[in-house]
Amino acid sequence: MTNFKPTLAYAKEQDKHDPINRFREKFHIPKDKKGNDIVYLCGNSLGLQPKNTQKYIQEELDDWAKLGVEGHTEAQHPWMPYHELLTNTMAKIVGAKPSEVVMMNTLTTNLHLLMVSFYQPTKTKYKIVIESDAFPSDKYAVESQLDFHGFDKKEGVILWKPRKGEDLCRIEDLENILADQSDEIALILIGTTNYYTGQSFPIKEITELGHKHKCVVGFDLAHGAGNIQPDLHKNGPDFAVWCSYKYLNSGPGSLGGLFVHERHAKNPKLKRFTGWWGHNKKTRFNMRQEFDVLPGAEGWQLSNPPILSMAAIRASLDIFEEAGFDNILAKQKKLTGYLEFLLHDLKNDRISIITPSNPEERGCQLSLAVQDADRSLHDKLTKAGVISDWREPDVIRVAPAPLYNSFEDVFLMVERLKKCLE
Ligand SMILES: *Cc1c(COP(=O)(O)O)cnc(C)c1O
Repeated sequence: MTNFKPTLAYAKEQDKHDPINRFREKFHIPKDKKGNDIVYLCGNSLGLQPKNTQKYIQEELDDWAKLGVEGHTEAQHPWMPYHELLTNTMAKIVGAKPSEVVMMNTLTTNLHLLMVSFYQPTKTKYKIVIESDAFPSDKYAVESQLDFHGFDKKEGVILWKPRKGEDLCRIEDLENILADQSDEIALILIGTTNYYTGQSFPIKEITELGHKHKCVVGFDLAHGAGNIQPDLHKNGPDFAVWCSYKYLNSGPGSLGGLFVHERHAKNPKLKRFTGWWGHNKKTRFNMRQEFDVLPGAEGWQLSNPPILSMAAIRASLDIFEEAGFDNILAKQKKLTGYLEFLLHDLKNDRISIITPSNPEERGCQLSLAVQDADRSLHDKLTKAGVISDWREPDVIRVAPAPLYNSFEDVFLMVERLKKCLE
């Protein structure tokens, strides 16, 4: 990909030949005061709204108005099994079998529910490894689980850290942690792709490493789902969780998802918190039964789910299905590669990219460390019509989402950044 050119004409030419360029039309692109498209590079935080979302939600509102409670069985898409409409596409996107995946609750809730099942500490083997730049919610969740089980939450968390003077975590250092302390470690929980650095960690390697040392291995795919192919079934982690409002474009606070590997599908020894939606579908409404758990991921469901949120997820997943996830990933590599090329071409000492340059070790996001940073550069960029985001202490995150961002977007972003730096 070394034949990139730093010109608008080149960027436009790439858009013309991009096989999934037409999908941009399926999204609402925010506009500036003059009505021009804003350069929106913030799909890592909140994905844009598909134009069809309103229609999908309206259909459910109409069926509710027309049918009332009968909609559970009589709606055009009956509400009772509605979540099943999401499963196949979601499973493809995370590389799982449909029985391993369910959409429910929100990310942190699902993380807790799966730790109830998969974090089973003993007196001596109880510690939890997370990456040092783990998302705060994950860190709080892990600490509160330790506390809940009666362990010291400071002592119980082991941080996998970058070395001094480095930004990224090295797998050798995780190997060393496990070689030294695996007798004490019960769970490894890693966020991939990392929300701060944009680093994608090797799921297979980490899983094998953890399992070799008799640790449970889970992943937080908040920044991975819809952005990389985590191949969950093949790579074999015990569980994973994600949200649907970042790269999955399903609306603010929309439902999350979870994965439980098939090998745990029918394990009667796993403890869990239960609710009626995890009960055998055939007898769920008999109401006076002993709990009869559904096999697979569905067995972790608690409640009948919010259909309006699921309608939004369906609208988005239909786009993924139509565009083809492989095509999306192929464009992602090229588009982010182009962004990287243009940023290098800036030759500005104040800006450096901390995200790995190997496309296999990242998704679409590049994290730019800004020297002598305060928010002002980011704020100038926003005024210039580029939505990115700022993460303390010194990072601007830019994430060209391949479904709706163009090569032109990427070109304009770097051109405006150049002006802001002058
Ligand atoms: C966005 C994000 C969350 C957010 O959690 P919610 O429960 O959906 O609010 C959690 N963890 C990571 C790594 C994230 O990137």
